[in-house]
Amino acid sequence: MLISHAHFDHDAGAARIKELTGAKYLVMDADVPVVESGGKEDFFYGKTPDLLYPPAKVDRVMHDGDTMKLGDTLLTAHLTPGHTKGCTTWTFKVQDGGKNYDVVIVGSPNVNEEYKLVDNAAYPQIASDYEKGFRVLRSLRCDVFLGAHGSYYGMAAKYARIKDGAANPFIDPVGYKDYVNEREQSFRAELAKQQAGVR
Ligand SMILES: [Zn+2]
Repeated sequence: MLISHAHFDHDAGAARIKELTGAKYLVMDADVPVVESGGKEDFFYGKTPDLLYPPAKVDRVMHDGDTMKLGDTLLTAHLTPGHTKGCTTWTFKVQDGGKNYDVVIVGSPNVNEEYKLVDNAAYPQIASDYEKGFRVLRSLRCDVFLGAHGSYYGMAAKYARIKDGAANPFIDPVGYKDYVNEREQSFRAELAKQQAGVR
């Protein structure tokens, strides 16, 4: 069992899934305290009781660049922090119709409502972490663009365009680049606003 990052909408069911299936849980190092505390250790949502969930034990702590094998597929965990301290973007290769494709599952490059990018005592390096995350996202080869929410990559619209004989809409290297650029501009605009003291 893999997650993109330790927010309730991605990890709140982990303890129950482990109990039902015996799945091994693999989590990026900096998100481990959050999932193992049921969200209490989250730098932003940890004090919001409604957003806490059953703690789940991590079976393997992942580090930036670590890989894991699922069947014949080798997945690589890239640390793309900021949204959470251990936010993870997963990559792997697939073959289809005799061609190789690079797949990217984006963790999250989003600056949530009320996130403090400046003078954040709970996460002092948050702004430089987002910058690291964007450097990583820009460096990845991407043919098939996926993400932790379908809205990142226009899942529903792409699904509706799937047709026999037509190009697969999920092969979208340009859409990936555009998305990363747009999200980085949005982050930089918010950072500039907060640095100027406008809240
Ligand atoms: Zn999130």
